[in-house]
Amino acid sequence: MTAQKQVLKIIALAGMYFVTAWGVSVLGLPEGFSLPIYPAAGVALGGIICCGARLWPGIFLGGLAFNAWFMNYVAPAADVPVFTMMLTSSGMALAAVAQALVGGFLFNRFVSSPTPLNRTKDILIFIFLVAAVGCTVSSSICLTILGWGGHLPWEKFVYEGITWWLGDVMGVLLVAPLFFVFRQPLSFRWTPARGIEVGILLLLFYIISQVVFGGWLQYSHYPLVYLLAPCLVWAAYRFGHPGTVLAILMVSSAAIWGTMAGRGPFTLGSLEESFALLQSYLLVLTIMTLILSAAATEAENAQTQSGRFGRVLDESSNEIYLFDAKTLKFIQVNRGARENLGYTLEELQSLTPLDLKFDFTRKDLETFLKPLRDGTDDLVTFRTRHQRKDGTFYPIECRVHFSHAEVYPVFVGIVQDITEKKKTEEELAVHRHHLEELVLQRTADLESTHLQLLHAEKLSATGKMAASMAHEFNNPIFGIRNVLEKIMRRVQMEDNNKRFVKLAIQECDRVTLLIRKVLDFHSPSTDEKEWIDVHESIDDMTLLIQKRFSVRDIHMVKEYAADMPPIEAVPDQFMQVILNILQNAEEAIPEGGGRITITTSATNGEVQIQIKDTGVGIPTQIMKNIFDPFFTTKPSVKGTGLGLSVTYGIIKKHGGKIRVDSLPGRGTTFTICLPVRQEIPAALRG
Ligand code: ADP
Ligand code: MG
Repeated sequence: MTAQKQVLKIIALAGMYFVTAWGVSVLGLPEGFSLPIYPAAGVALGGIICCGARLWPGIFLGGLAFNAWFMNYVAPAADVPVFTMMLTSSGMALAAVAQALVGGFLFNRFVSSPTPLNRTKDILIFIFLVAAVGCTVSSSICLTILGWGGHLPWEKFVYEGITWWLGDVMGVLLVAPLFFVFRQPLSFRWTPARGIEVGILLLLFYIISQVVFGGWLQYSHYPLVYLLAPCLVWAAYRFGHPGTVLAILMVSSAAIWGTMAGRGPFTLGSLEESFALLQSYLLVLTIMTLILSAAATEAENAQTQSGRFGRVLDESSNEIYLFDAKTLKFIQVNRGARENLGYTLEELQSLTPLDLKFDFTRKDLETFLKPLRDGTDDLVTFRTRHQRKDGTFYPIECRVHFSHAEVYPVFVGIVQDITEKKKTEEELAVHRHHLEELVLQRTADLESTHLQLLHAEKLSATGKMAASMAHEFNNPIFGIRNVLEKIMRRVQMEDNNKRFVKLAIQECDRVTLLIRKVLDFHSPSTDEKEWIDVHESIDDMTLLIQKRFSVRDIHMVKEYAADMPPIEAVPDQFMQVILNILQNAEEAIPEGGGRITITTSATNGEVQIQIKDTGVGIPTQIMKNIFDPFFTTKPSVKGTGLGLSVTYGIIKKHGGKIRVDSLPGRGTTFTICLPVRQEIPAALRG
């Protein structure tokens, strides 16, 4: 597909080349007048620039066909061998290819945009490098070939060379721009009004060209060629590049048409003089129009751009102020600033930045601006505030530059309303402060938790130690008891002494029991529920701490229910619950001693154990925390804050409930309720 397209393009280019070259020759030759324009050169260059160097075969084919035709046409009778003729034609066609390729290379290398028509620099490069230098290729090669072939006397070499070169240059300048015009979108919109305008313009052009080059006037050589200039300007001004390029083409055509017919201002002397005059006229006209059109486009683009930039600045959400470097009066203030301040531009133009009630004086302001004036700094930035027309203030951040570029030096202030920013900053500061506090508090919490954990670990270690010591005591006490029994049996003693030994044996039994209880309690929990006797378990536990109670003058009262069913529980866990509550009760009772009452009762389906102390009570505000792990009000060496949390866990696991009532200063009562299963094994029933 693409290859097919490429071939079509090559054929089209060959056709265009041949037709344009042939056309001017047919027009010119009958008059014995070789034309000042060779448009085929423009076709070749335009084709190469717009469609790529790969189209060169088109130029070659078109050139070959034209050259062959031309030689036959000019000298049909000449006795030139066909082979020589073909060789000459091919050589000249190759020269045309070379010229187009050189021009294309120069264009791509030095012109920075797809079309040279938009910028003065580009059009100058196009005219004086691409066209003028590029077109030396074909004329020099072809004339050399013709000279060698004997078709051209050497003495006419220079004159022919210049004419040929000028013809090519004109062809390039007139025709190649047509290709560029198609390369860019129309710069104006096509409307019916435009159509009418084109009609009028064409009519005017027709009339003027008839007047200047036509036969309307009696004397046809008046120098009226300037009359065509308005048409060119009109076309260029109103119809952009297409208008310009077409107008130049039309004016050139009219000039050639008139001059060929022997009319118009260029036919004064000999044919050669007319020819030179026409060529120089067209050259200057084309060059000037192209340059003017590019300059106009450039200026228009710059204006559009600066207009757009001005609009962007005016609509910017930043406030932009221009103020006179000398008087400090505002010159220009953008819309954002006017709207925020509530002043009109006219009002502002009689004010200076100081009237916006900066926090500082004129002297301060001058100190700020000094480095800008001295050139020691490009930019100063500061924060202050502005006062609106209605008297309210808003905080701002201001960046000021100094601009020498203006006729009068000015300062440019770019101001940002930082009300929101400041609010956010303040909020952020509050949050940061809060966060810091939180972190500190959490750190403190963690530290105390760490201490408590250490303590809990220590307690567990001492527990283990106590258990192992109890184990160690077992054997010696058994031995002592044996000895005491033997003494009882074998030694005759007074009754009094016998009583002492008996007492010693009893104490040994008590210690053995104590040791067994400690070991039982300490042995790892199996987590297996057993049927237990509530009263027996409580008694076992109180046995362990009885001694301590009596030391501290704590009186223990047991009010046991007469009829207590056995319950299902993990024995050591149940005992731990009782121990934890008894320990807390003991710790709550002040120096002078007090009383701990253990009351049990059994109602339908439930066993209730109440442990009541006469301690200090629990302050209401910490009531909700006492079951939390690690919550303690005791010094860290004493409390771990784990007792009640562990108790709570055990009771929940047994499907029971725990309740606490306390009167600060009067005492605390913990009530445990545990469920009783209906089907109690027969062996256990009372
Ligand atoms: P610890 O005994 O190690 O402090 P607990 O979990 O056993 O930890 O108890 C938590 C807190 O509950 C105690 O520090 C104490 O303030 C309060 N508390 C528990 N029982 C009583 C009680 N009988 N009388 C007063 N306060 C108590
Ligand atoms: Mg405790």
